[in-house]
Amino acid sequence: MADNVRGRDRIRSWEGEVCKVCGQPNHFGYNLPDELWRSIVPEEFWEGGIVCLGCLDWFAWQKGIEYLRHLDELYYVGRDETVTMHVIRIEGVDYGGQTVNS
Ligand SMILES: [Zn+2]
Repeated sequence: MADNVRGRDRIRSWEGEVCKVCGQPNHFGYNLPDELWRSIVPEEFWEGGIVCLGCLDWFAWQKGIEYLRHLDELYYVGRDETVTMHVIRIEGVDYGGQTVNS
């Protein structure tokens, strides 16, 4: 319970971007080609262009669209600073929690 309360406080005090789909703080920025992004994200969420990586992944999975290989950098957005990270490896994961070669 206490964790949930803290989570709500954290979200309420977040001043950065909020995902248009799930309403959660958007901590991971990414760049995708516009055309690809629009093919994944339903049109109702296009305005403002803020869809978190988790929601993007959900939409892409539903539509069977491969987008991960188009990601080159991720940006972790903290309260005061942003960290840029390079994608160095992409591995498939099955639901048994084991990795599969791709
Ligand atoms: Zn989201």
